[in-house]
Amino acid sequence: MFELTGKVAIVTGASRGIGRGIATLLAAQGAHVVAAARAENAAETVARIQEAGGHAEAVSVDVTDAASIEALVGGTLERHGRIDILVNNAGIARDQLMLRMKRDDWDQVIATNLTSAFSCAQAVLKSMVRQRAGRIISISSVVGQSGNAGQANYAASKAGLIGFSKALAREVASRNVTVNVVAPGLVETDMTRAIADKAQGEWSARIPLGRPGTPADVAAAVCFLASDEAAYITGQVLAVNGGMYM
Ligand code: NDP
Repeated sequence: MFELTGKVAIVTGASRGIGRGIATLLAAQGAHVVAAARAENAAETVARIQEAGGHAEAVSVDVTDAASIEALVGGTLERHGRIDILVNNAGIARDQLMLRMKRDDWDQVIATNLTSAFSCAQAVLKSMVRQRAGRIISISSVVGQSGNAGQANYAASKAGLIGFSKALAREVASRNVTVNVVAPGLVETDMTRAIADKAQGEWSARIPLGRPGTPADVAAAVCFLASDEAAYITGQVLAVNGGMYM
């Protein structure tokens, strides 16, 4: 089940947290993983994958820069001849109540979380359409489904990924390319460690399964959607949130 041998997967934001978890699991299932993050940041993820016997390479990308994304995708196609799986995972939060939110907080979050998915998908689409196969999976958030005070920019970006993916799913279904979304709840990573302990306590109390998620929980959902077993699933949002939003 969920065998990915021979597949080439690009994972953005693979230097740590959820992205590292996704890259690790896709490689464990046999994929060659192109682990992308800024500078040399994904090198440690790649070293761990290779130590475990998997195949991966670290590539530098700034997902807010369209030319950098073109170089990531173009280089991958040159080296491997195909891209089977794109995981749009890179993301940031710049939380602030609306009345105090700076225009730059809005722009940075939309550029990193949403416009990046547009640019990455557009860059890989031609080759996926040509090979009549592909998987595009974007990491949204429970906040994109439910909203959250202090996260108007982040919620807009994550809800945007859902609408974007549903529209694209309809465009490319006839070419056997599926487009889906994974929407995690609270997952313990660098991003959420920045949330005050108090707020984390409140969130945890609202999780029916009684614990925060792990990168491995999210990676399992991505791996399923990337697999041949998910061939008949497109335009869907798979929530991995412990039941906090149903
Ligand atoms: P982290 O902060 O731990 O990691 C963020 C990743 O995004 C890093 O690998 C970082 O790479 C990369 N990144 C950020 N900006 C850029 C950029 N401009 N160019 C390239 N890479 C960039 O976050 P998480 O692992 O927690 O989150 C991963 C995804 O999951 C995000 O989209 C987040 O919104 C989403 N999510 C997280 C939840 C959580 O509770 N943690 C819940 C729901 C969704 P670099 O090394 O370059 O900084």
